[in-house]
Parts: sequence; C-alpha cells; structure tokens
Amino acid sequence: MIIERRDFLSKLALASATTLFSGNSLLASTRPVKDKLGIALVGLGYYSTDLLAPALQLTEKCYLAGIVTGTPSKAETWKKKYSIPDKNIYNYQNFDQIANNPDIDVVYVVLPPSMHREFVVRAAKAGKHVFCEKPMAPTVADCEAMIKACAENKVKLAIGYRCQHDPNIQAYMAVAKEKKFGKVKMINSAAGYFDGRTTHWKQSKALGGGVMGDMGVYALQGARLATGEEPISVIAQASTTRPEIYKEVEETMMFQLEFPSGARAACQTSFGINMNYLQVNYEKGWLKMEPQSGYNGNKGSMSDGTIINFPIKSQQAKQMDEDCISIISNTALIAPGEEGLRDIRVVEAIYKSVQTGKEVKI
Ligand code: NAD
Repeated sequence: MIIERRDFLSKLALASATTLFSGNSLLASTRPVKDKLGIALVGLGYYSTDLLAPALQLTEKCYLAGIVTGTPSKAETWKKKYSIPDKNIYNYQNFDQIANNPDIDVVYVVLPPSMHREFVVRAAKAGKHVFCEKPMAPTVADCEAMIKACAENKVKLAIGYRCQHDPNIQAYMAVAKEKKFGKVKMINSAAGYFDGRTTHWKQSKALGGGVMGDMGVYALQGARLATGEEPISVIAQASTTRPEIYKEVEETMMFQLEFPSGARAACQTSFGINMNYLQVNYEKGWLKMEPQSGYNGNKGSMSDGTIINFPIKSQQAKQMDEDCISIISNTALIAPGEEGLRDIRVVEAIYKSVQTGKEVKI
C-alpha cells in the first residue's frame, strides 16, 4: 500500500509542476479530489473543530479525508458534516489500520501534548506523513523519538507553527536576516489569554498542560524569530493567582533569554492575562507587533515608517497547503520537527530554572 501511495505522490508531484502550482483558484476548485493529499485529523476538540476543519475547506493541496476520534457521537457529526466515508473513520485503538488506507496521506495530531509522541510515532510507522500541533511534546526526549520515527519511516514531520507561514511574521524574520537596523539589543515578547475553564488538560501535568508549552511557545518564538538566533541561557519565574485551578502546572511564566549576539529578551506568558505583543529594539531602530501571534490580524510597524499588515485569509489553510507542497515536491518544510525540538529544549531549561531558582545554560 505504501508503494502505491508513494506512486500517487510522485504522480502528484509531476502534475504539480503544471497545474497545481498555478495559483489559479478556479483550477483548484474544479480539480478532482484525488489531486489533493488526504488529511486525517486525530482528536476532534476545539482546534480541529473551529480552525482546522474549516481551513481544510479552503485548502488547494489537501482535503479532509478522515478522522480519528475516541467519541462515536463526534464521528457521526463529522461524517455527516464533511461527507467522510466510514472506511476513513478510526478510533484510538484501530488507528494503526490507517496504514492500509490509500485515501490518507497525512495524519494531523491535534491531541493534548502528552499524547503527541504516541500518535506521531504510530502514524510514522503506518507510513503516513505527519503534522503535529504545538507544543511538539513535553520533553526533548519525546521530540527526538518523534523525529527519529519519522526519519526511519521516510515520512515528513511538520509542526503546526501557523505563524511561521504568516507573511506578517515572515516580515520581522526578514529584518533579523537582513540586519536592517543592525544588531538586536532588547526584546519584549508576550503571549497570553484569560482561560476561565476550571477543569481542562491545560491544567494537568500528566497531559502536558501548563502555559509555557501552550502560549509560552509564541512568546519564545517571537524572541527566537526576531533574533534569528537560539538562546544560550535562561532564567525563569513561575507563578499563579488561581492556585485552586493551577495546582499542577503554572498559570504564568516570566523568562529572560540571552542570545549569542548579546541580545536579551524579557518574555511573559499567562493563562490569566490577555496580552499579545512583540517589541524589538535594534542598534538603529525598533519594530513593534501587536498582536504577534493571532490567527489573523497580526500587524506592526518599524521605526523607518514601514507598516506590516498583510491580509491573510486563513493561516491554517496556508500552513497546510505549504506543508503539502513540501511533501509533494520533497522540499524542506517551513517548521519541521527540529523546529519544535528547538523550542522544547528552551522550555525544558525554563522548567529547570524554575526548580533551581538559577540561570540555566542551554
Ligand atoms: P481540546 O481539549 O479542545 O481537544 C483535545 C482533543 O483531544 C479532544 O477531542 C479530546 O476528546 C481528545 N482527547 C483524547 N484523549 C484525551 C485526554 N486523555 N484528555 C483530554 N482530551 C483528550 O484541545 P485543543 O485546544 O483542540 O488542543 C489540541 C492541540 O492543539 C494541543 O496541542 C494544542 O496546543 C493545539 N492547539 C494549537 C493551536 C494553534 O494555534 N496552533 C490552537 C489551539 C490548540
């Protein structure tokens, strides 16, 4: 079956050179479904329901071909809403049989973080390419095992870093690359929202909760992408204003990063505060983004008068289409597993700093 699927993909790659990459949406809408990669979403919670499934109605290189869920009533609802055939509906137990399903090319893991490793590895062993939501996994060891499994099974692994596909975020990544305002001196980066829920996996240590992996990766990415560097040390402080809810994990994390060039970043993330901004002070100018990691509407300005405000229809559709193009043409992904691992390496150091009360070298 894998050979057949690969054969299909190579045919698709050939077709891509002519029609698929024409950017002609009329062509896209009249193209038979087989011209698109089939995606199966694993875990039908908020993000799959409200963002990914609607985005998969807009994508040109992929479509919603299947679902994997532990809840039979959700399977019924999704089956009707998205015309998903019974043969493409799996539960967590029979999921491995997806290996025999040529309709499914990519498995997209949208489960609580502690479950990412298991399902990414199972998908890779089934010979499917994998998209995995952020945070990639709770530990560096998990991330390394996921990367290894995908490499061994010759499938691609993309992390759902939708912002890296957003031209507004790419605009400040370009400033870092071009050194338009010289070296970065100081960064302030924040990402948080008020989460009023009292029982959710985001409050469970065992399920990979805690604000650092959830929203903290956006504050961290703001600093990493604005410098184009990897941090060399961190010192962090965790806190909570609602200890009755955040018993096992932190509600708020503040962390300060040092980069090889000498740049420093003050970052904050919280489940108790609505905040989302990035400010970068360079040797010869500044850049501000607010919001910096929204689903849409990310915008900003620079000290030379440049405005960053590119319209974007659906980050998630662009992300999945671009990741599918990488699969079809066998080119590098924008945010592969290694990019998820870079963040988790820093996240582990942040937790170590909280435990020890000391600066941690990375
Ligand atoms: P959610 O709680 O709404 O959904 C989680 C799904 O996992 C549910 O369908 C649930 O039934 C299923 N599940 C299976 N076993 C479970 C268990 N033991 N405990 C709890 N749920 C279980 O969560 P979500 O907000 O959809 O988040 C899912 C993933 O998507 C997370 O990794 C999250 O960080 C990520 N996410 C990413 C973005 C983004 O912008 N990229 C936004 C939201 C969520």
